[in-house]
This record gives sequence, structure tokens and C-alpha cells, in this order.
Amino acid sequence: MRILVLSDIHANLPALERILQQRLSWDTIWNLGDTVGYGPWPNECIDLVRSYPDSVHLAGNHDLAATGQTSTESFNAMAAAAAEWTSQQLTDDSATWLKSLGSISTEGDVTLAHGSPRFPAFEYITTAPQAAQMFSYFPTRHCFVGHTHRPMIVVEGISMPAEALFAPTPGQGFDLAPARALVNPGSVGQPRDGDPRAAYALYDTDMQQIAFHRVEYDVALTQQAIHAAGLPRQLADRLPPGR
Ligand SMILES: [Zn+2]
Repeated sequence: MRILVLSDIHANLPALERILQQRLSWDTIWNLGDTVGYGPWPNECIDLVRSYPDSVHLAGNHDLAATGQTSTESFNAMAAAAAEWTSQQLTDDSATWLKSLGSISTEGDVTLAHGSPRFPAFEYITTAPQAAQMFSYFPTRHCFVGHTHRPMIVVEGISMPAEALFAPTPGQGFDLAPARALVNPGSVGQPRDGDPRAAYALYDTDMQQIAFHRVEYDVALTQQAIHAAGLPRQLADRLPPGR
């Protein structure tokens, strides 16, 4: 089976649509959470991504905040403002669906978590030593996470240079058969690795291979909608530099 692995869509419909409109072959979607928050199309993104049969979805910290399941105390001002805006926009159906999601799940030999297998909704994996610790927190062969908005692959037992986490280049593929791996596909709707293009990964469960990809989308369209919605303008300003 081929899986389209998505994370941190953040209500950015043009970015999500652009990924889905490509002529890619995949069977279903694993969505690692933060479907909403920051962006101007929360209901549209939920309706689209959940429409795929057998798709798997997690709740991220922004999904929890927008549905009142966690406070926005730890959020910065613009994230809190966006969560408040999102909570007012969500339809009953969208809110009910978001509330039904967990922040960690197991699919075959892969653990899926929004942030980390240790603290699923909230922990950011940002250093190599921290990433190395994670392998004792999931029983499956691999673990896929999101939350940092940066693509990453860490292989168990391979020491990483200093504090740096390995960032795959777009188009790069990896054989997951030889060792356990911790993978982040990057963010669909708000990349923070200096590349504004929407990020995703394709996972082939039979071949045990994963490939990282980027695709351009209409950033200006999303910026206009952020402004029109009255969301904090920094949320639009950060899209072109991907920061
Ligand atoms: Zn996020």
C-alpha cells in the first residue's frame, strides 16, 4: 500500500489541494494533525482531507485548542488569536470530528503521533539527542510525527552530527527496511524550514520506502484570505519565507 503522509495542514486549502491534485499514486492518507489553526479555511480542509476512504487523522495542539480541549496559555499571541478565530468558524460537524481524534495511533508497524510518541500532542522534537531518546517510546518499527513543520528523518543507532537533525532534500527517498526510523513529512500549510512549498511524504508499506516531496502552491491566495478573515497579518507574512 502507498500512503500519502501529511501533517500541519493548518487550514491552508490551496496548499492541500495542490498536493491532492498531483498525479500521484497513493491509496490513502495519514494526517498527523493540526488540520486547523493559523489558516483561513478550517472547515474546507477538514471536509476535503476526511473525505478519503480509510484515511487516518490525528489531533494536533491547534486542533485541541480550537475545540476547547486545551488552553491557549502556551500559545503565542498570534496562535491564540488564530485559535479563537478558528473556534468561531468551525461548524458543529467539524468540531465534533476534531474532538473524536486522538493524538497518537498505531497503523501496522508505524506509530503515528502529532508531536512525539512521548507527549503526543505537544512535544517538539528539535535535537538529535532528543530524537534518539524517542525510539524507546514506541513499540512499532517506525514512528511518524509532525508539529515542528520541518521535514526530518532519524535512523535508530546512527549517530547524528552535533545537535543537527537530518533534513531530507525534496525528492530524496529512503529505504526503511534496514533500521527503525523516526520521520517527519514537514508541513503542508505552514512550512518553517525556509522552503515555502507545501511538504508531504509518500510511504510505500510493501517496499518499506519513504520519499520526501515539495510542491509550489498559490501563496498569495492564502495570504489574501488570511487578511480578509482578519487573522493576524504575521501569519500571512511568514508564508513566503517559509519561517
Ligand atoms: Zn502545527
